[in-house]
Amino acid sequence: MNTLFDKIWESHIVDSDDDDNHLIYLDRVLVHDLSFHVFNHLRAAGRRARNPNMVFSFADHFVPTVDREPDVIRPEMQEMVDLLAKNSAELGIRSFGLSDPDQGILHVVGPEQGITLPGLVIAGADSHTSTHGALGCFAFGAGVTDITHAITTQTLWRPRPGNIRVTVSGKLGFSVTGKDVVLKIIETIGAAGGTGHVIEYAGEAIENMSIEERMTVCNMSIEAGARAGLVSPDDKTIDYVRGRPSAPTGKDWDMAEAHWRSLATDSDASFDREVTLHADDIAPMVTWGTSPEDAVAVTDTVPNPQDEADQNRRAKLERSLDYIGLSAGDRLTDVAIDHVFIGSCTNSRIEDLRAAAAVAKGRTAKVPAMIVPGSVPIQKQAEREGLDRIFTEAGFQWREPGCSMCVAINGDMLEPGIRCASTSNRNFEGRQGKGARTHLMSPAMAAAAAVSGRITDVRELMR
Ligand code: SF4
Repeated sequence: MNTLFDKIWESHIVDSDDDDNHLIYLDRVLVHDLSFHVFNHLRAAGRRARNPNMVFSFADHFVPTVDREPDVIRPEMQEMVDLLAKNSAELGIRSFGLSDPDQGILHVVGPEQGITLPGLVIAGADSHTSTHGALGCFAFGAGVTDITHAITTQTLWRPRPGNIRVTVSGKLGFSVTGKDVVLKIIETIGAAGGTGHVIEYAGEAIENMSIEERMTVCNMSIEAGARAGLVSPDDKTIDYVRGRPSAPTGKDWDMAEAHWRSLATDSDASFDREVTLHADDIAPMVTWGTSPEDAVAVTDTVPNPQDEADQNRRAKLERSLDYIGLSAGDRLTDVAIDHVFIGSCTNSRIEDLRAAAAVAKGRTAKVPAMIVPGSVPIQKQAEREGLDRIFTEAGFQWREPGCSMCVAINGDMLEPGIRCASTSNRNFEGRQGKGARTHLMSPAMAAAAAVSGRITDVRELMR
């Protein structure tokens, strides 16, 4: 009568105190090119990695998505790439550097390479480490001090989180995706709805999702305030993991598979809180404000802050509308878009690119639109399928893999006032550039916005 999370947590406890804090064993530790402070701390303290084979580094946040060859890359970018390589070599860890054939965003590469496996505990130097929970593991983000401790000891003290189950029953409608589901969940429970808990996603709609879509859902758990998101391992999980470069093989695989299948939440397990949504009530979603919880169906209008009873909430909504440049009652489908970004660890996998290409095919982008694959293998797969040609013929830019305009620290940045349809996970003020305005949506919806020049209901475009 245990949940998936309980089973993973219990099997990783090394020590406990009287206040339900636990020293948890970590199977993997993930760092990236913004984690240089971690390496500096380790160096200053003269510490080494306890288990360097289980620590991985990724060049993703800083890497350029154009002009990345050695003779043309900007010196400050090259410096960050070199720094990650030097730090990783010093620590003796596997690094997915800029020129690695498997380079990409840490939350894309980890699952892709089989570094992420069901039942593991993974600490990452990035809040969206929750993504990995789609494979049935407990994966969470941590700060510099904790990650430094994690690398040194392969453990971390953590209070035991509570369990929430979000069940999405029924079948999703045409062009309704994992991104729409998670935006609807966050709109429903709020940006703090998961605080102090892990969220397990369940129900027919989740079971029907591919692993990639489940990653999109788990990725944004953190935007609901949760410590992590996860989905019980099933046949799809096993099929996804089988044959990945770092996945177990032979007898090890047989033992691992039996263990993974035993992790699914027991039918009589209880949760601290249950939330149920029905797939019929979920449409393609769009954010209108500066928090992922500011989401509505694309067919809706911008809500009126005056309808809010809570004074603080009303003031927050007014500030959001002021920043985003919209007014109460505006129809989302009337909102003109200046730029489109399709990428990020939320939506840069091959299925995301296929969905966007299906919309772009035979049409022309009316505004600048960037496609940034999540990893080199995804980029190559898309090129084998001819998706890059569909995009470029439609006037989209086909870029190199990285975080890019999700966080706008690699030079892919919007000017103040520019309004962007984005498949990333955060629409906070300044996230894509100072004064830039972000509307979160699915890849198909973002492609529809690109070819229409405004926020568009992709269902109307594709019918
Ligand atoms: S794509 Fe965005 S959210 Fe994901 S790891 Fe990179 S910066 Fe963080």
